[in-house]
Amino acid sequence: MADRRPFISLEEFLFEAPLYEQVRLPGTEDELKSIEKQPMDGYCPECGERSMFLRRGKLLNRGDWGTARGSNDMTLQCVRNEKHFIYFHVLFVKWGLQKIGQYPSFATIAQGSVKEYRRLLSKEDGSELTKAIGLAAHDAGIGAFIYIRRIFERIIRKCFDEHKDAEGWTEDQYLVRMDDKILLMKDHLPDFLIQNRKLYKILSNGVHNLTETDCLAFFSVARESIMHILEEEKRKKDEKARRAALQMAIAEHSATKPSV
Ligand SMILES: [Zn+2]
Repeated sequence: MADRRPFISLEEFLFEAPLYEQVRLPGTEDELKSIEKQPMDGYCPECGERSMFLRRGKLLNRGDWGTARGSNDMTLQCVRNEKHFIYFHVLFVKWGLQKIGQYPSFATIAQGSVKEYRRLLSKEDGSELTKAIGLAAHDAGIGAFIYIRRIFERIIRKCFDEHKDAEGWTEDQYLVRMDDKILLMKDHLPDFLIQNRKLYKILSNGVHNLTETDCLAFFSVARESIMHILEEEKRKKDEKARRAALQMAIAEHSATKPSV
């Protein structure tokens, strides 16, 4: 059986875990504390943006999470509009938890939250990330991994193309293992990607060797990581463009108004 992923927080479990993903029971102090956190942050499909939510109905207190069995309902109410609700149905078993139902669907919430990131993503990345989420929401973990891997490969290729002339790289240098490509471009790639380049190995392993369940168990980590990488990449580019624009403005100013 695949390793079940840790609980992390109630917020993360409710908003980020696809249906049927197997998650361990909360164990650490932070995980247990997260059960009582109010309000929770997450994407509200009705508001069309991130909002805060309060838990409604009978709350299972943190001490009961280890011994509860069977299914439990959890309801979240949006603080921006009291008519916005998200409903979850959670199964408690000896080894942990599974979301076995929710409304609005996981895909609606996850795709909505990608929409928020859309302005940071290229059209192709945004559309493939949405496809990956849709596949994971329908238990197709391997397919979801393929799309995430394609986005990853595109980030690497783009970086190579953007810098090859200035760095004097040849196409031969691109024909090496992914790890070596990343190290070659370490001055230009997002730090998170360089530090977590193992992610590519996991994604490739998923496509070739892992089961659907294995891939699903890791999917939310893969998705969050790739979003983080895309954000960092965009931020890096914006910073560079801003610096270049400022430099140019300063140079122009000095050229027209010589210093005394
Ligand atoms: Zn709302």
